[in-house]
Amino acid sequence: MVGERDAVVVGAGPNGLAAAVTLARAGLRVDLLEQADRIGGGAGTRELTLPGFHHDVGSAVHPMALASPFFRQFQIERRIDLRVPDISFGHPLPHGRSGIAYRDLDRAAEALGRDGAAYRRLFAPLVRRVRELTAFTGEPLLQLPSHPGVMLEYGLRALEQGSPAWRLRFKEDVAPALLSGTAAHTIGSHPRLAMAGAGLALGTHAHAAGWPVPIGGSQTIADALAADFEAHGGRIVTGTRVRSLSELESYDTVVLDVSTSALAAMGADRLPARYVSALRRFRRGNGVAKMDLALAGPVPWTDPELRRTPTIHLGGTREQIAASERQVGRSRLPDRPYVLLVQPSVIDPTRAPAGKATLWAYTHVPYDCPVDRTEVMLDMVQEYAPGIRDLILARSATPASRFADVSPNFAGGDFATGAVTMTQMIKRPIVSRTPWRTPLAGIYLGSSATSPGPAVHGLSGWYAACTALHDRYGLGAPELGID
Ligand SMILES: Cc1cc2nc3c(=O)[nH]c(=O)nc-3n(C[C@H](O)[C@H](O)[C@H](O)COP(=O)(O)OP(=O)(O)OC[C@H]3O[C@@H](n4cnc5c(N)ncnc54)[C@H](O)[C@@H]3O)c2cc1C
Repeated sequence: MVGERDAVVVGAGPNGLAAAVTLARAGLRVDLLEQADRIGGGAGTRELTLPGFHHDVGSAVHPMALASPFFRQFQIERRIDLRVPDISFGHPLPHGRSGIAYRDLDRAAEALGRDGAAYRRLFAPLVRRVRELTAFTGEPLLQLPSHPGVMLEYGLRALEQGSPAWRLRFKEDVAPALLSGTAAHTIGSHPRLAMAGAGLALGTHAHAAGWPVPIGGSQTIADALAADFEAHGGRIVTGTRVRSLSELESYDTVVLDVSTSALAAMGADRLPARYVSALRRFRRGNGVAKMDLALAGPVPWTDPELRRTPTIHLGGTREQIAASERQVGRSRLPDRPYVLLVQPSVIDPTRAPAGKATLWAYTHVPYDCPVDRTEVMLDMVQEYAPGIRDLILARSATPASRFADVSPNFAGGDFATGAVTMTQMIKRPIVSRTPWRTPLAGIYLGSSATSPGPAVHGLSGWYAACTALHDRYGLGAPELGID
């Protein structure tokens, strides 16, 4: 193998796969090395509980699979079955009323009653210009925005929702809870600009193309990328962990889908000391603890709308979510935490045997916390779906301290591969308009530790590969569509 190939990608997560496809499509002979026995990283699906029950090990819902410029060019929606529900997400509240984020913004606003008009005004301009918004949020923050108008609309709204001014827009508690539940996809204190910005972008996708669930699980996304890579001459080697850049010297171009601490360790003897210390200063974020359930039937939600909603946020009102997130920030475990829950079986019958169901949920915990949070999460579900415990056939728990088994990039449960703060969105992982380039010629970092950050969008890997093609071969971005 050594010496025969032009480029190597280390790590077959969504970003590594996107980089590998891009390099192979440009005509390079590319190897893809993955330490696990299967490709996919955070986009993987396994029988974690019982035979016939297919659980996503990481990502479960994929707004960015439809929105990302990489996946749009790759035509992912023609390669796999991405099913878009009518309801992007739901959020039950203690007083019995649920927030229901219908994909149709007008319908969602109507269901919000007195706060409907304010909710519509928040999202309508962003939904109308979702392509431009995605271009802005998908670029390093240091770029001159190509669409300053949409950046202003978005920036003003993020400033409002990311500051104490977030109280001013709404009169009731349902719309604020919908917004906080979405902002809490990012771990951190509320209100904060980074959380509010990410939440507004996700909310915009919820009312634009929607939040799709891949039929068959997130593994199908990884498999579609791998199939295209191999069709263009790429070679995948699993079960191979790279520990040092010196193992890759025979390749002209290297793209790494690894964390900043892994890159610092792999290149400690070759990388300039200043760069290594910048990588080491890049802070890990708090973690997630996850549970996967095999169920004898669908979740018995009291609210019938929630029975057909794949994604559900639990955790109470905006104030309650802010309070529990604050506790996690202080390294405590809240009694009533925020829970992000996905019940894919409501839209995908392939996940479980007929009549049965799977459930995926996680909650935020301090970095590397070894505690199994299944019972606390079940308490939260039980409040809105009495009888859930009677349906459990089998369960699997992944505490934060075991997330390195899913991917070394998620060590400690930090599924963002680096805390998502405003500072760390500007320097991800360094302050540069091309943060994927390292100081070593031919070596690029393309994981979600680089801009634009976490989620299954393939953009970090794509940008890293395009930067490499430009630097090393004077090539532009290759065509990615179906041949
Ligand atoms: C519980 C959980 C829920 C999530 N939910 C969602 C969601 O619903 N929607 C969404 O869009 N995103 C979600 N995410 C985030 C998403 O999964 C990640 O942002 C995404 O997977 C990052 O992709 P990546 O390629 O950068 O890294 P990873 O997916 O971590 O892939 C990195 C790959 O590189 C391999 N690797 C690392 N180091 C080495 C090495 N030295 N040698 C060889 N191989 C190596 C790893 O084994 C892995 O396969 C979730 C993540 C988790 C953990």
